[in-house]
Amino acid sequence: MSEYDYDLFTIGAGSGGVRASRVAAAHGARVAVAEEFRVGGTCVIRGCVPKKMLVYGAHFAEDLEDAKHFGWDIPEAKFDWVKLRDNVLNDVDRLNGLYTQTLTSHEVEIFHERARITGPHEITLSSGEKKTAKVILIATGARPHVPSCPGHELGITSNEAFHLDAIPGRVLIAGAGYIANEFAGIFNEFGAKVTLMNRSDQLLRGYDESVRDRLLQISLTKGIEFRFNAQFEKIEQNEDGSLKVSMSNHDPMDVDCVLFATGRVPNVEGLGLEDVGVEVDDKGAIKVDEYSQTSVDHIYAVGDVTNRVQLTPVAIREGQAFADTVFGDKPTTVDYSCIPSAVFSHPPIAGVGMTEGEANRTLGSVRVYTSDFRPMKNVVAHRNERSLYKMICDAETDRVVGLHMIGPEAPEIMQAAAIAVKAGLTKADFDATVAVHPTMSEELVLLK
Ligand code: NDP
Repeated sequence: MSEYDYDLFTIGAGSGGVRASRVAAAHGARVAVAEEFRVGGTCVIRGCVPKKMLVYGAHFAEDLEDAKHFGWDIPEAKFDWVKLRDNVLNDVDRLNGLYTQTLTSHEVEIFHERARITGPHEITLSSGEKKTAKVILIATGARPHVPSCPGHELGITSNEAFHLDAIPGRVLIAGAGYIANEFAGIFNEFGAKVTLMNRSDQLLRGYDESVRDRLLQISLTKGIEFRFNAQFEKIEQNEDGSLKVSMSNHDPMDVDCVLFATGRVPNVEGLGLEDVGVEVDDKGAIKVDEYSQTSVDHIYAVGDVTNRVQLTPVAIREGQAFADTVFGDKPTTVDYSCIPSAVFSHPPIAGVGMTEGEANRTLGSVRVYTSDFRPMKNVVAHRNERSLYKMICDAETDRVVGLHMIGPEAPEIMQAAAIAVKAGLTKADFDATVAVHPTMSEELVLLK
């Protein structure tokens, strides 16, 4: 009989925690999970999944408009936000059930409570119940960061955006990263007047410059406004319930909703980390080694709480690698090179590998190939929106070191193309592949 209640106690049932717990259990470990909210975590409950459904819903606004040019006579279309919201939330319930089932079918015990580490191997649940475990995994994720300015509590974050009673008439989105640009597209398509404000003069820092410029240009054409180099000064409530936002370098604005999309911070508070000696970095993220081991030997951490790469598929890989290493007798690290990513803006962006700027800084000489084209569908639809594909190659080896795209279906195309980039293929390998015609993705093998 083991001296502990469990072999593994996981705190947090998001993407990383669920994968780690399930795989550890499959390796024969006795596993428990504490989750204070809902099984599934940010991605499933209030992130990637419901966001993507809203993106689909939003896209109909343009599709219905374009349909007229393809011969469809559509009587005035009406949009019902509450219907979409509730359908999305119902599907979130379904997925929450599936994730719960994944754990229970592997005999992982779930405690719907908050947990705190109260001794080297001891966890205390909010009910006061104490449990012990040989290994503890922290997978508590991250939460939206809200800049501190007077009246910030009048704003919302992406957490609340999925539950709105109605689409606000005028929305100010703070930040110009992933969440800001995705919700800008969503709200704009649903008819809101959208303004993005950012502290710097850039959007989507880290993405290729040409692709970012194209998104800015298309967003402006769609009627989205931007306020750059702007810091919040205060938010006040007007008599009619609307909000007055004062910011540096720009005139104050009256809006109906302020959405903060200004980055995410690791959830480390109240976990008892300092009491057991788990170290965090200057951003509050848990420090881990390549095996996700913290400064305490038997305590590990995976996912956004470690702030390595804040993406669901990365958290899942970290959870899998942890479980294989610790309970599967198979030491495994995660390969962080060439991680493809996408922004589900309107139109979407996707990228893998180095940007042109990075390649110029790190490689001797670089060759860049681009295709700037109007997708066939946009031509017939009279939609003056151009796509941009950009391939960055190491001039000495011909190897493709980066691929960046903006245009319809860019994320879908990128997943396949990223395999070639990750495999280290060359521009000649791309050129040797016959095009699938007529498609947008054929541009990838025709780049000049
Ligand atoms: P991002 O890091 O993408 O963007 C944050 C934005 O907020 C930037 O424009 C940044 O400005 C600004 N900002 C950061 N800190 C402050 C501050 N203290 N005050 C004012 N402005 C600030 O964060 P998001 O919140 O959009 O998303 C969080 C993470 O979630 C992303 O990094 C991503 O990893 C993940 N995510 C992934 C998605 C996907 O894969 N499609 C979708 C949504 C989220 P500046 O650039 O000038 O510094």
